[in-house]
Amino acid sequence: DTLINQIAAGEVVERPASVVKELVENALDAGARRVDIDLEEGGVRLIRVRDDGKGIGADELTLAVSRHATSKIASLDDLEGVATLGFRGEALPSIASVSRFVVSSRRVEAEHGATLEIDGGRVGEVTPRAHPQGTTIEVRDLFFNVPARRKFLKAERTELGHIEDWLRQLALARPDVELRVSHNGKASRRWKGDGDLLSDVRLHEALGEEFARNAMRVDHAAAGLRLHGWIAQPAYNRASADQQYLYVNGRAIRDRSVSHAVKQAYADVLFHGRQPAYVLFLELDPRRVDVNVHPAKHEVRFRDARLIHDFVYRTLHEALAETRA
Ligand code: ADP
Ligand code: MG
Repeated sequence: DTLINQIAAGEVVERPASVVKELVENALDAGARRVDIDLEEGGVRLIRVRDDGKGIGADELTLAVSRHATSKIASLDDLEGVATLGFRGEALPSIASVSRFVVSSRRVEAEHGATLEIDGGRVGEVTPRAHPQGTTIEVRDLFFNVPARRKFLKAERTELGHIEDWLRQLALARPDVELRVSHNGKASRRWKGDGDLLSDVRLHEALGEEFARNAMRVDHAAAGLRLHGWIAQPAYNRASADQQYLYVNGRAIRDRSVSHAVKQAYADVLFHGRQPAYVLFLELDPRRVDVNVHPAKHEVRFRDARLIHDFVYRTLHEALAETRA
């Protein structure tokens, strides 16, 4: 089973940032209000994610790290309308097969916490351990037992950069959750969880004052689709596509068709080929989008892609045209 998990890890765990993504998404699915992320050496030496979510019961710890054990969907029907970030039940066993892994947790109603260690896929015994409500997962020495993968890890700065990029993406979508990050023992970033909506403060922090000053609010709904967020006005456009954030039902994704629609609307109003900057949230019935397309869940498939493309195009074209009027 360790081998199968390691093979799956090849798809799910590319680098430290993928581990951070999976662990923080689990924390959010567990209803965390605050997530602490401690890193050492760009996450290669240590990634520790602690949350104040609902926790995992001592009797469920072993299951949580077993392959295809997800508590988030119970049937194939549920897969048609996934509302959580996770649903594949692959992340924990995959990560635990290529690291020294410890999960400790306590559910609200439980008197004691418990912990479970997994060393390169070898699952230990569940033992009692004091822990506040919530879950802590420690991942040490990523790829220690897969030298071929370890060799491809980049310099500490680069790996940390990937983690920060992903956390920024997350911070934009979840201003209601406090995120604290430390690297090599020093506090490196703190996102306060005080916004119900995407607060200007967070926008400002994530994308810079220039963006915030030029950002135009968009919010339009039709045909069961809603597009909201910010797109930068003409004065602020970019040489590269580095400030393009797209979320579908709260999940950060890449989608060619939607980004094409944004770019096209922008180009048609502005008549030049520079890159738009945006943070856009598309909301629709989860049954209209298949999230089970990619192991790392970076992509989705829309049931009515053409309609969505046109909706995004028209919404933004109209909004941008107004700035020209
Ligand atoms: P998935 O997220 O796809 O369900 P994972 O392998 O990421 O699969 O996690 C397996 C299971 O472990 C989850 O379904 C959940 O029940 C439990 N779990 C993992 N992380 C946490 C957490 N931080 N808090 C509560 N439960 C968790
Ligand atoms: Mg998960």
